[in-house]
Amino acid sequence: MQAFEYLRATDVDQAVATVTATAAASYVAGGTTQIDLMKDGVLNPEQLIDITRLPFHGITYNDVTLRIGALTTMEELAAHPLVKERLPVVRQALLLGASPQLRNMATIGGNLLQRTRCRYFRDPACACNKREPGSGCSALQGFHRMHAILGTSSHCIATHASDLAVALIALDAVVQTRGRDGERTIPLTDFYLTPGETPNREHVLAHGELIAAVEVPLLPQGARSSYLKVRDRASYEFALTSAAVVLEVENGMIRDGRIGLGGVATIPWRARSGEDILRGAPASTETYRAAAEAALAGATPYRDNAFKVELARRTIVRALASLEEMEA
Ligand SMILES: Cc1cc2nc3c(=O)[nH]c(=O)nc-3n(C[C@H](O)[C@H](O)[C@H](O)COP(=O)(O)OP(=O)(O)OC[C@H]3O[C@@H](n4cnc5c(N)ncnc54)[C@H](O)[C@@H]3O)c2cc1C
Ligand code: SF4
Repeated sequence: MQAFEYLRATDVDQAVATVTATAAASYVAGGTTQIDLMKDGVLNPEQLIDITRLPFHGITYNDVTLRIGALTTMEELAAHPLVKERLPVVRQALLLGASPQLRNMATIGGNLLQRTRCRYFRDPACACNKREPGSGCSALQGFHRMHAILGTSSHCIATHASDLAVALIALDAVVQTRGRDGERTIPLTDFYLTPGETPNREHVLAHGELIAAVEVPLLPQGARSSYLKVRDRASYEFALTSAAVVLEVENGMIRDGRIGLGGVATIPWRARSGEDILRGAPASTETYRAAAEAALAGATPYRDNAFKVELARRTIVRALASLEEMEA
């Protein structure tokens, strides 16, 4: 690990000014992604700004919105009574991620900005366009069973690893930021960037811009939601496929349906084409199958991960069908 300067920020504007002015400066919150990558030589910041003393803690709410400070831990958010009651999809996505020890350290801002688990990205000896633009993509010719089938490009096929972001994207969450030019509000659906020709650019934040909070619209009373994660082992593992689903059903007909997908895409994926099939259709397995078919219509499988297309379809169908058994 290379030597670096450690600074503890106590003032938001000062932290933003410091990192904005220094290309080789980075933030650290819980450190569960950042420190790992520094130990592996993937990231080598010269300055590390600890933001855990900034005033981005706490969860507040009103009748329609939950506001989550960016420094709230995954465990704190999962334990919040309103999340248990009104946003089960968020609680499930959190509790199916990492381990209790990690969730007690890991923050919500850090979770949204965690880096891919692509093994070639995490090995500085391998070519990787995301780590070193223009160097190539080792995964395309290498082992890519865990990689993406949606939103890929010839420059990068790495998945986004966050479970929480998949749930939040299905809920139309909004990210509030603090940057050099003040505050910004960014819908999570506009926050992430597919790799295209610049896989090193993963989101729309400017260098030095902080996530201050995430706002989540509460689901209407009667809406049901769930997160289903399919993985190689029952705990402590990233998703092969996952689905965050929301249904509002009235007299057997779907008034509103939402689908977020994880484990299959380069960004937390909102499956709008699947949602179009759900809305106005009967709540039935046939409808769910048609929605899953539409959601995966644009998939581009690679040699080792073609199985994900059908697995993702089945994940969607099972997640939606499970809502029928749930109490509204
Ligand atoms: C073994 C292991 C298993 C895991 N399993 C899962 C899993 O199954 N599902 C899952 O979703 N996640 C999983 N994770 C990832 C984990 O959830 C993330 O590492 C964690 O949420 C990151 O939060 P942090 O506070 O530790 O971020 P840090 O490591 O401190 O930071 C991560 C990145 O975000 C930036 N950052 C942090 N906060 C802010 C902010 N407020 N504003 C701007 N930039 C910021 C940092 O500069 C850094 O680039 C796993 C991690 C490990 C190590
Ligand atoms: S898939 Fe993306 S992250 Fe992985 S090696 Fe290729 S460019 Fe790097």
